[in-house]
Amino acid sequence: MEEESSKQFSCDICKFKANYEYYGSKPSFVKSLVLLEEAYLMRDPFTSDAGLIILGAHCSTCKKCVCLTGECSLFYTKRFCMECVYSNINEFPLEIQEEIRKKQKG
Ligand SMILES: [Zn+2]
Ligand SMILES: [Zn+2]
Repeated sequence: MEEESSKQFSCDICKFKANYEYYGSKPSFVKSLVLLEEAYLMRDPFTSDAGLIILGAHCSTCKKCVCLTGECSLFYTKRFCMECVYSNINEFPLEIQEEIRKKQKG
């Protein structure tokens, strides 16, 4: 038996941790799926067939490992951690800037 407990995803921002099964964009256990980014993936334990949970990915700018919640990262053509989003907010289109500003208030 292989020891799989070492494959652990950990978000650099919120410190969320979970074991992942695969890192990449073409998971072999979901045949028809090609992701837009390389991500940490695990099979959904609550569905018997091709259920998939994306745990997180790397920020395209600073390479931080971030989970996919709105507090930690944003996908706009590429994955960005929220720290990079805030420091480059003017690079994003207006509707995205508005969404981010709404989030910041809360
Ligand atoms: Zn996180
Ligand atoms: Zn970043």
